[in-house]
Amino acid sequence: MLNVNIGELMTHRAYLSPKTEGYVGRKRYSFSEMNQRVNQFAHFLQQENIQTGDRIALLCKNHEDFITAFFGAAKLGVITVPINWRLQTSEIIYILQNAEPTLLVHDVEFEEKIKEVLQHVPLKTVEAGDERFDAYIEPFPTAEVTPVSKGDDTILIMYTSGTTGKPKGAMITHTNLLAASLGMSHTIDWWFGDRFLSVAPFFHIGGFAPIITNVHTGSTVVLMADFDPIAVWKTIDEEKITTMMTVPVMLQYMLKVFDKEKMNYKSLRNITCGASPVPESLIRAYDQLGIPIQQVYGITEYTGAVSFWKKIMGQDKIRSMGKMVFHGNVKIVDPATNEPLPPNKIGEIVCSGPQVFKGYWKNEEETKKVLNEGDYRSGDIGKIDEEGFIYVIDRLKDMIISGGENIYSSELENVIASHPDVVEVAVVGVPDEKWGEVPKAFVVKSKSSPLKEEDIIQLCKKHLASYKCVKDVEFISQLPRNASGKVLKHVLKTKKAVH
Ligand code: ATP
Repeated sequence: MLNVNIGELMTHRAYLSPKTEGYVGRKRYSFSEMNQRVNQFAHFLQQENIQTGDRIALLCKNHEDFITAFFGAAKLGVITVPINWRLQTSEIIYILQNAEPTLLVHDVEFEEKIKEVLQHVPLKTVEAGDERFDAYIEPFPTAEVTPVSKGDDTILIMYTSGTTGKPKGAMITHTNLLAASLGMSHTIDWWFGDRFLSVAPFFHIGGFAPIITNVHTGSTVVLMADFDPIAVWKTIDEEKITTMMTVPVMLQYMLKVFDKEKMNYKSLRNITCGASPVPESLIRAYDQLGIPIQQVYGITEYTGAVSFWKKIMGQDKIRSMGKMVFHGNVKIVDPATNEPLPPNKIGEIVCSGPQVFKGYWKNEEETKKVLNEGDYRSGDIGKIDEEGFIYVIDRLKDMIISGGENIYSSELENVIASHPDVVEVAVVGVPDEKWGEVPKAFVVKSKSSPLKEEDIIQLCKKHLASYKCVKDVEFISQLPRNASGKVLKHVLKTKKAVH
């Protein structure tokens, strides 16, 4: 792989297409204007004596100051640590104590949260998200700085969503980002002239990785700090958006407020969606509007996209995660022996290629569990068919072992979700004296539905072998989810039963 500094992509893009509109945020910026801001920020970091390998944390929404700070830091080899601004103060403190940054760039709106954080982690701060950030950087020169780190040096620490425990800092390198950018643009045909709506948060790799692709391809990014479904449709129309990245809940909210008479979305070529399973019904609903949904299977430790399913790959493969991105490899192994398995056999998904992360920050023990000679063990159970289509069946940790038999929660969830009164469902394993573990369903039913526990159990019995059927059903008002819409199954597992 090319031994490049990822920050330099911005320099080169400004050289290639200086006048092209690169960013739409508080203002409109050409690539040349953005590169100048990036350089100013880099000079500011130099004045602060922040060195290659040091970290800066960003507690920012999706706006131009995040872009400026990341590329400015990257040119100097300073590592960016984006932080999920939805986290509780104690969780932010945990990440800051773990990453040990020397500077915190934060949005003005998080001032109160920051005051509390700083009592535990004293840090220099810079306010962002409005003209205060401009005032900080404008006195500095716009001249280029000399890029320092490159290739396999870490340039980003992305904390995982923590659905399976405490968040871990995935170390992402320049090469990882370059490979992810190429893999994405060449797999989903994202090019110069595209106008990308950036509303999936930067603190997740799925929201972040597109900002590399945008510089690489010279496409425009329209930045949206907060997700508001009506505003999304309005922006699609006004900014002539051609493509965007979402998670399934976003698509659901957008569909709820959709009004064909009022909304002009003709510019849209497609919408990418992923991070958790995209219901087939949702893909079909958008298809009817003439908007192709492309499903992405993404992993932080793989710098984002592993594979994409697009309509052109065939409706019969709609339940798959499509095919592997460029430069990547994927195989299925027996989780116990690590031996590769033939097509259609279910096992653990293992990925390799230049997108595989470098390891977890200050956590060799966890790194060793997942990285082995360039192979990354995803912890996902799946299969690959004869044509190379990848299927994600469950997370290894969510698989229920009942009386020695493996039960995939997703299989049960699909059956239960097929009931018209079921809004959403999650199945987890709960302890059982006789079987070790048995499946339990948490169901959100539609308002005033008469659906009872027994109806769900009977539905499962009709479609599945009896050992797989749920033994217990609890109706709840909503499923606990994290920022990217993933169901927090550990919260359900420890939830006290309410009947
Ligand atoms: P942690 O490792 O802290 O528990 P996490 O694994 O949720 O967090 P991410 O990297 O955000 O961290 O999520 C990757 C996982 O999300 C994948 O391994 C897979 O289980 C799931 N996933 C991603 N995209 C999809 C998709 N389109 N359909 C189903 N599952 C998906």
